[in-house]
Amino acid sequence: MLKVDNLSVNYGVINAVKDVSFEVNQGEIVSLIGANGAGKTTILKTISGLLKAKSGSITYLGKNIQKISAPKIVGAGISQVPEGRHVFAGLSVMENLQMGAFLTKGKQQVQKNYAQVFERFPILKERINQDAATLSGGEQQMLVMGRALMANPKLILLDEPSMGLAPIFINEIFDIIKEINQAGTTVLLIEQNAKKALSISDRAYVVATGEIQLTGTGDELLANSDVQKAYLGG
Ligand code: ATP
Repeated sequence: MLKVDNLSVNYGVINAVKDVSFEVNQGEIVSLIGANGAGKTTILKTISGLLKAKSGSITYLGKNIQKISAPKIVGAGISQVPEGRHVFAGLSVMENLQMGAFLTKGKQQVQKNYAQVFERFPILKERINQDAATLSGGEQQMLVMGRALMANPKLILLDEPSMGLAPIFINEIFDIIKEINQAGTTVLLIEQNAKKALSISDRAYVVATGEIQLTGTGDELLANSDVQKAYLGG
């Protein structure tokens, strides 16, 4: 579904992503794990068209998407949920969701998407008229995920969905990621919570200083002693 080949991305003279190659097959949950500053967010932003690559290629459903604008990439079925839970403060939960549907064609489809989002996240329905800024961290994460789902993505890119959340919300968010995947959306996940990410991933890649160091199934990497030492707390 998504194929990244020899991707390099620079910020000025800083080479943040170096010759990275990986793929995501339809139906999978694939994780990129690694420390702060390893280059994971840069990779996601390049896929979603927010950054330009220095070299390499990104192919989605057989087409090179590097010359396509970010909104058109959303239209083609890739939605990114950015790090840091950027809800639109001052807008209600409903209005935030509406923003996610700006490219979704047909009133009926939009209504269907609202219904699905409220079924997946009942708390958002309870808070429908509440200012998004007043939601808890976990609820805001649900809202940004719901907002991305309003665009009917085939592939969802999740950047650190569990960051800064209370443990109870962390478990819930990972359960929801699995549910979203089981309902038919392919997932590319970036996480510093390597243990949780690997436990729900079909496959994963370890990213360190801009390069892919290791790849395997979620279970293989959970059992790998180097991964345990570096990312799983021993
Ligand atoms: P994090 O989990 O903190 O987001 P990451 O693995 O996603 O880490 P990136 O955010 O992709 O890492 O950063 C990769 C490298 O690029 C880091 O060295 C970072 O300092 C640098 N970098 C990121 N954004 C910029 C920017 N706008 N300008 C210059 N350098 C940047």
